[in-house]
Amino acid sequence: MRPDTPAENVDHTAEAARLERTAGLYPEDAEALLVRAAAHLELSGDRPSATKLYDRLLSSPDGLENPPLVRALKASNLWEYGHEAEARAIIEGVRTTAPRDPAPWVIVAEALESHDELEAAQETFTEGARLLLTDVAEPPYSTHPLLYGRHRVRRMLGAPHDDWDRLADTLHTMPVSLDELHDPKRVWSLGSDDPADLEAEISRLRAELGAYREALSRPFPVAMLHWPAGELTELLEAYPSLSEEYPSYEEHLTTIEAALRELASSGTPNLGVVPGTVPSYEAFAASEGASPSDATLLPQYATTLAARGRAVAWPPQRGAGCWCGSGRTYGECHGTGA
Ligand SMILES: [Zn+2]
Ligand SMILES: [Zn+2]
Repeated sequence: MRPDTPAENVDHTAEAARLERTAGLYPEDAEALLVRAAAHLELSGDRPSATKLYDRLLSSPDGLENPPLVRALKASNLWEYGHEAEARAIIEGVRTTAPRDPAPWVIVAEALESHDELEAAQETFTEGARLLLTDVAEPPYSTHPLLYGRHRVRRMLGAPHDDWDRLADTLHTMPVSLDELHDPKRVWSLGSDDPADLEAEISRLRAELGAYREALSRPFPVAMLHWPAGELTELLEAYPSLSEEYPSYEEHLTTIEAALRELASSGTPNLGVVPGTVPSYEAFAASEGASPSDATLLPQYATTLAARGRAVAWPPQRGAGCWCGSGRTYGECHGTGA
């Protein structure tokens, strides 16, 4: 099984429209879907439309599950197209309300960072860390971007490592170490004196950091679709041609774990597993005007479920149950040898 749509090769305008449509079908998940639709509008370059969507969310009569997140995203988007004063006012507001969710902290700190307000960015990352990580034995996965972002900004400021920086280094499992990735001198230590080479290297680094930052600051997992055993049986009875994708249940599980490990080792952050059900898959196919036998729908279905907030983070926290639902811990089940 493939993960959901990778970030490149996406028609962001079409994806935003699809997510808005889906939000109409699932009003209970509209917030998560519209936040993701707005992210696609931002990526398409249509920032004013993204602002409209954030405003629509913020004025929704039933209130929001996570107002600070939407405000943070709105501020970050506004600043990107010249509305600095409004963005700053919203950022101050987010900091004052001290949200218990790390994502708004990361988003506003990164907005400050990307406009070269490194001191303010560091203070914001640190405020968030103090609030969410004081007296916490093992930082939850969702707080890692807070520690990584703080580490990055402190490297750029030339600050010496403190305990949280050392913690960030130990949590980070990507092939390039955080210290190397965040080393501001890396840009200047090139052998070449040719300004064109230097420029190329700088833009490469910017792109690398940009992609890294973007993936981390948006709480959208790249999710692998998991069919629980009973659902898979039912799916293959109804749509036998999908057996090509899923030769057996055991193999299905093995493939998911292997794909996730591969994505993790290639540096893809925010991974998840999302359980599918036959009725919701059929409803999804109908809403797309397609047949459930069409295997190309499967990744889109996974994306939509993930956008509706149905994915669970992978890998599971130490000692937590395996994502496959066997009832054993991850370490004793699919996490063996991880
Ligand atoms: Zn470090
Ligand atoms: Zn398992």
